[in-house]
Formats: sequence, C-alpha cells, structure tokens
Amino acid sequence: MTIRQSALLLGGSLLFSQALAEPEIRKEIRIENDKEVEYMFIDGIKVHETDPEKQPQPKVVTPPPYDAAKAKPPESATVLFDGTAESMEKNWEQVQKDGQPWKFVDGAMESVKKAGYLRTKDEFGSCRLHLEFATPSNVKGDGQGRGNSGVFLMGIYEVQILDSYENTTYPDGQCGALYGRAVPKVNASRPPGEWQTYDITFTRPLFDDEGKVTRKARFTVVHNGVVIHDDVELTGGTNWRGPHSVAEYQAHGDKGPISLQDHGNPVRFRNIWIEEIED
Ligand code: MG
Repeated sequence: MTIRQSALLLGGSLLFSQALAEPEIRKEIRIENDKEVEYMFIDGIKVHETDPEKQPQPKVVTPPPYDAAKAKPPESATVLFDGTAESMEKNWEQVQKDGQPWKFVDGAMESVKKAGYLRTKDEFGSCRLHLEFATPSNVKGDGQGRGNSGVFLMGIYEVQILDSYENTTYPDGQCGALYGRAVPKVNASRPPGEWQTYDITFTRPLFDDEGKVTRKARFTVVHNGVVIHDDVELTGGTNWRGPHSVAEYQAHGDKGPISLQDHGNPVRFRNIWIEEIED
C-alpha cells in the first residue's frame, strides 16, 4: 500500500504541496462519491471559490464609451478578421473538422453549439491582441452558462469571455478572468448584445529542455478601456481539469494559434488584429 493510499484510507483526504514559489499552490484530494476529486488552492483560495468572504466579487464599474478609433489596427498589425467572410475564410479554421461550421453573421464570426473551437491558421507567441466580442442579446442561462466563450493565447491560455453583466459566477471564471487563475481587478462588462473590447498584451512562457517552466506567462488585459490585469504572472495553465482544479503548465513550442471557444452559446467576434512583440 502506498503512503497516498494509506492517507486516503485514514483521513479521507490528503494534502500535498508542489513548487512553493510565489504564489503558493496547494492541492488536496477529497473523496466524493467514491471518486478522488482534486481541489487546488492558489494563495489559500480555492479555485472557483464562490464564497464572497473568501474570494470577493470584483467591483462593478461603468466602462468609457466604445472608442472606434482604438479598434483600428495600427499599420504594423496583422489583421485576423476585418468583418468580411473572405478574411474569416483566409485566417481561421475549425479545430473539429466534422462539427457544424461557425457562422458569418452581420460582419461578425459567431460560435455555434457543438462546432468546437475556431483558431487562426497562423501561429503567434508574445503579442498584443485586439478583439471585440458580443454576448447574446437574447439572454439565456446563468452563471457559466450565459454568453460563455473565451480567447486562448497560443491556443492554451484562456482569457474568459462571459456575460458578466448582472450575472454572478465564481470570480476567477467571470468575464476577463484568466480562467481559474486570476480574478479581474474590476468588472467592466457591458450589457448583453453590446460590443466589448479586449486589448491583451501577452508574454509567452518559456520552458527548459526537461519541460519545466522557466518563465511564466504574463498578461495585461484592458477590457472596454479599463485595465483589469496589470502585468499579471499566470501561475499555471487555465484548462478546466475539475470543478476546483485547472491544468498546470505543459511545455510547448514558441508559437500557437489564437483560439476562440465554442462553449455552447452564440457569441460574436469582430475587429481582431495582432502585433507580435519582442520577448
Ligand atoms: Mg470560456
């Protein structure tokens, strides 16, 4: 019998720690319905904690009006979507080839339930990314089921897209969250159906030959003109691994696609451009 099994039998839970660099990540296995469920804590706060005493909801702020001038790509930028079906066709592809196609509607790309993710054909590393999104004006569902999508840098690291206008969920999964890892400073969401902007500055992570992360990713995110992450170090991966757990870093190459999530809600995208940056 291993130590782990003994601990499980004795206490029903097991504590173990890993890489105690700042911030502290702690994991705990709990037995629920005869299954091992992993709970992850970042600086003592459970991933997807819903208790506002333990993980407060970000303050709601009213963002400045939409600024069309800021949507215009600088000359040095690569335009990934300009509101035409041609640019959608040229720059994007579906990950799941046998799914329903994403729609081109009113100058926007719209996710379709069960279509799977849409990703750029080109790949990028560290970058500045501008994109605009609108959650459905016809509000359905609540929490994570309302206007859920997401933009994934390098196809891996998610900045959450969600209808977080008068819609409460766990703060580390609300609109603008680095999913499961970092809560936005404020909630700068616009109402459903309105166009919203993300201006993301992303520095990619680096790995050594053994696949260990030697430099974690960094994010600055401006949501509707409001800074919601200011040069935040991403503590690990953002992929869902369980109700209270997200993935760790896993070594990857220097570049990856920009991916957009199909989470079952028809979220629209427009004005997407990118500039690669030195790192
Ligand atoms: Mg999402």
